[in-house]
Amino acid sequence: MFMWKTNTNTTIRLLRIGITNCYFIVKKDITVLIDSGQKCKAEKLKSNLSQLLGYKNLDYVILTHTHYDHTENALMLKQLYSSKILVHKNEAEFLENGFTKLPKGTNIITNIISAAGNRFASKIGKYDAVKPDIKVTENYKLDNTDGIEIIHTPGHTSGSISVIVDNEIALVGDTLFGIFSKSILPPFADDKVKLYESWNKLIKTPCRIFLPAHGKTIRREVLEKNLN
Ligand SMILES: [Zn+2]
Ligand SMILES: [Zn+2]
Repeated sequence: MFMWKTNTNTTIRLLRIGITNCYFIVKKDITVLIDSGQKCKAEKLKSNLSQLLGYKNLDYVILTHTHYDHTENALMLKQLYSSKILVHKNEAEFLENGFTKLPKGTNIITNIISAAGNRFASKIGKYDAVKPDIKVTENYKLDNTDGIEIIHTPGHTSGSISVIVDNEIALVGDTLFGIFSKSILPPFADDKVKLYESWNKLIKTPCRIFLPAHGKTIRREVLEKNLN
């Protein structure tokens, strides 16, 4: 299991739940899971978490956005741990209805896939509906500390958020993509202009590494290069 540690001893562990990287954070007494992964891997998620949590409870589940591959286990986690579910207010209604449509493609091919998916396979966007407990807007500090800050980074979706841990590491959901070697542009995004604005927002943080929900760690230099 990959692990990162900040200067103030916050730990971040990578849990691969299907196609999605979920991240488990322990900050002092607070436990947080970023994104919940795919339902077909729910058992893996449960066993990983019970091992990591020990006697602790899972306090928060932060959803970077509401695409199915990030939300499919949110209801299960809420039922199992009474975790508080946090989402951006722009996508709260999607979560309550258990459906978020696919975003537009960022190139010709993914645009065709997106249009076809929304038209013929709308089931892809469905997941177990769950009521969020915390709806955030621009900036939000979890438990009122500077340790875990949430910033609004729209573009991939209108309610995409990133989580800044101890001003060192950012968990960025699908705002940056770590799958391809040449580009960090996600293959799908509702608003490309907003997406680039969000990249600028991320580069203004002092973070040195950016952990995406798909693919490998993105270093600050790589984000800088892609911005140019
Ligand atoms: Zn997504
Ligand atoms: Zn995703």
